[in-house]
Amino acid sequence: MLPFARQLEHLGYAGLKAENVSTLQVNLGWRCNQACKHCHLLAGPHRPEQMELDTIDAVIRVVERWSIPNVDLTGGAPELNPHFEYLVDRLDRSGTHILARSNLTILLEPGKERLAEFYRDHRVELVCSLPYYQEDLVDRLRGKGVFQKSLEALRRLNRLGYGEPDSGLRLNLMYNPAGAYLPPEPGALEVQFRRNLAERHGIYFHRLLTLLNMPIGRFKEFLERSRNYERYMGKLVSGFNPATVAGLMCRTLISVAWDGRLYDCDFNQALDLPVLPGLPRTIGDFDLPTLATRPIRLADHCYGCTAGLGSSCGGHLTGALGT
Ligand code: SF4
Ligand code: SF4
Repeated sequence: MLPFARQLEHLGYAGLKAENVSTLQVNLGWRCNQACKHCHLLAGPHRPEQMELDTIDAVIRVVERWSIPNVDLTGGAPELNPHFEYLVDRLDRSGTHILARSNLTILLEPGKERLAEFYRDHRVELVCSLPYYQEDLVDRLRGKGVFQKSLEALRRLNRLGYGEPDSGLRLNLMYNPAGAYLPPEPGALEVQFRRNLAERHGIYFHRLLTLLNMPIGRFKEFLERSRNYERYMGKLVSGFNPATVAGLMCRTLISVAWDGRLYDCDFNQALDLPVLPGLPRTIGDFDLPTLATRPIRLADHCYGCTAGLGSSCGGHLTGALGT
């Protein structure tokens, strides 16, 4: 396999660099009320990792000091962090745009009965995982009963105005494949999702984002168990699409881990590949001019971001397949 960095060199991207930091992605901890088969972390109910209050305060200081326009809250289930509401409240006052990645079922957990209203009151944009519109497939990937709970959570959000065209309460869904294959064409899939969820369940949403399963974490374990790892990597490498490189999310985003360390993205965090030596290492050392033009730490899992139409936490990266 041609190393990913060499592949980019051939395209004139030797030493791929960031272009700015318009998004601070904050991983609030690896604890989750679910333990999905495709998780790129190894998140689950018994993970102890949680961002502590002094790190959260450092995040708030960075957003205010450097006027970071977007903050993307993720986990695990970010809502399980005991300081979650404090963080959202402070970020809201700073004027930054807040996006939270929710697994939906968390809205039904004991003690979280007001979470949907809290999101609405702070105008938080939501990206909610729903790998398909059929019960058996979702439950197989995410656990028994998850599909029905996800529908109930979506209905609750819809009742509050989330997903309505002009409400300003953005509700996006996140699809990922159920196995070792690339996501299908997103436009047609979104039509299928919209029709099925509306007709069968009365649920509506704004956009469907597609995310490829990265060959790391629990998904990598699955690939290895099923002896599919080499074949899947081969698909990612042969699907390399040069048109995706300009839009790679690490060029405009930086990721803060639960312990305050800085990574080029959440995937590098999962692999414990921090930003390159010589750069600010933690949120306490954050320096925008340095990080906005930093060289990015690449490895072969990066082929997961450039295969087919490309993949990122914001969905696919290009409308065209490469040549
Ligand atoms: S994929 Fe998301 S919801 Fe599932 S275990 Fe991982 S963090 Fe939790
Ligand atoms: S895995 Fe991370 S560092 Fe690699 S290309 Fe994707 S976003 Fe960039």
